[in-house]
Formats: sequence, C-alpha cells, structure tokens
Amino acid sequence: MSNDCIFCKIAAGEIGGPPVYQDEEVTAFRDINPQAPHHILVIPNEHISSLNEAADGHQALLGKLLLTAAKIAADQGLAETGYRLVLNTGPQAGQTVFHIHLHLLGGRRMAWPPG
Ligand code: 5GP
Ligand code: ZN
Repeated sequence: MSNDCIFCKIAAGEIGGPPVYQDEEVTAFRDINPQAPHHILVIPNEHISSLNEAADGHQALLGKLLLTAAKIAADQGLAETGYRLVLNTGPQAGQTVFHIHLHLLGGRRMAWPPG
C-alpha cells in the first residue's frame, strides 16, 4: 500500500462507499466522475503505479483485472450490448491517478477513435 495513493485507500476501505466487487486481489468501484451510464474502475489491491511498472510476476493479476471486468459487465447487463475497457498509461493518454486501473464503460454507444 502506498500511503498517499487514493486508490490504495479505496481498496483498503478507508474511503469511498461499498465496492461493486472486492476479493483478496482486486477491487471494483464506481468512478466519481462517470463518463457513461456505467463507469466502473477495476484495480489490483496491490499498488502498481501504471502498466509501465507492471512486471512479469503481475501476469496473473493483470489477467484477473480483465476477467473481473468481464464478470462485472455481465452482472450489469452489458455483455450483449457491449462495453469498453480503457487503461490509460502516462500523461499523453490522460492518466491522472497513478495506481493502475481499468475503466469499464458501458450503457451508451462509444465513438471510435477515442478522444
Ligand atoms: P485516469 O484519468 O487516471 O485514467 O482515471 C482516473 C479516474 O479516477 C477518473 O475517471 C476519475 O474520475 C477517477 N477518480 C479520481 N479520484 C477518485 C476518487 O476519489 N473516487 C473515485 N471513485 N474515482 C476517482
Ligand atoms: Zn495505490
């Protein structure tokens, strides 16, 4: 845990409401500034600053993020209509919180290319 990381505090239950999903490895919670009717963030409980800091040892954990997002999408009724997963990495991609997180966006039609 990084003491100055807001997502570490959310994963530890120190701030924020009840998570959408949580187990010993990952936490999912609603984005505070939703960009779609469904906007959920899926994070590892372990602090990893960005995909650039992910190591080979994180392979299973990164796969778990994807599978957890798919399960949540199904739970939210998004599997058939579709949804988008976004993983911003670094300044030009718009990463603002440096604890790796997968955005799960759904409930509206998405544009391509993304902005
Ligand atoms: P990024 O721009 O780093 O990919 O995404 C960070 C996301 O975290 C943003 O969509 C932002 O709205 C969300 N966020 C930032 N602070 C908080 C917070 O304290 N609680 C929640 N639930 N979401 C947050
Ligand atoms: Zn963190």
